[in-house]
Amino acid sequence: MTRIVVVGSINMDLVTVAPRFPAPGETLLGDRFLSVHGGKGGNQAVAAARLGADVHMVGAVGDDAFAQSLRDGLKQENVDVSHVTIIEHCSSGTASITVAGGENEIVVMPGANAQLLPSHVIKAQHLIASADAVLVQMEIPLQTVEATLRTAHAHHVPVILNPAPAQQLPVEWLKLARYITPNQHELATLLGADPTEDFHRLMRDAPCPVVLTRGAEGAWFREEGEPQHQSGFAVEAVDSTGAGDTFNAAFAVFLHEGLPVAVRKACAAAALSVTRLGARGGMPHPAEVNALLA
Ligand code: ATP
Repeated sequence: MTRIVVVGSINMDLVTVAPRFPAPGETLLGDRFLSVHGGKGGNQAVAAARLGADVHMVGAVGDDAFAQSLRDGLKQENVDVSHVTIIEHCSSGTASITVAGGENEIVVMPGANAQLLPSHVIKAQHLIASADAVLVQMEIPLQTVEATLRTAHAHHVPVILNPAPAQQLPVEWLKLARYITPNQHELATLLGADPTEDFHRLMRDAPCPVVLTRGAEGAWFREEGEPQHQSGFAVEAVDSTGAGDTFNAAFAVFLHEGLPVAVRKACAAAALSVTRLGARGGMPHPAEVNALLA
């Protein structure tokens, strides 16, 4: 069984569907409300577990009403939460989302995610040392991202950095990543480059191998030499939320099969994820991925 360690964020998404966005100072009655488990870290952990991996989450929740539900949500998906720390006197991460007329407004409150520290990564280093791959994103403090990159690298475990949300990072850190998995905007930001720059060139300029996602078009990947293309799988798209998270999870789970196979399977899994509503709602099981690949 492939063992994956995910170091990242855990959020409660609080979604209100409203007839329109309220003006500053205005109170408006909404049409519908739902709360769903999210955060890039939690989402990638769930997607990897659905694909059959042995998944361990390194993360943090607060000591509020959401904490238990967030941990239980991961456990129900067979994600090990023994390294999900409870931070006292702190709220869990939340994303307050208002949806109106097909657009959304989002306020993310990092809460406990901002208290996930390098010391938590060090505490989990025995898990990292025994992992087949480590996944980390950037919704946690950057010093914790650095600690993850350094710990995995020191143990010769491939670490995949999904550089989202986009921020610039020191080149020295990027050299520790086995792969980075940005979209075009994230790659430009990460490298401090012009976002309109040709992405093939950005990929060649990166200090580490790149797997670049391009929505319905699929993905490009480069270890060395020229970037290569994997076409996207034609599906009926319903909701693209979580496509990137599913892609990253599948890429990590199938990486031991080699780069081109992992990218192909990641594109298939991510395509399936856009055929159903919600970030976690569409994350596929292996049989569905195999059927699409057949
Ligand atoms: P997000 O942050 O919304 O999850 P992202 O920018 O990180 O998105 P995308 O490039 O939009 O990631 O999507 C990731 C992968 O999902 C793509 O590389 C592709 O394989 C797959 N994908 C996304 N949208 C579609 C689509 N409409 N049809 C088929 N595959 C898709």
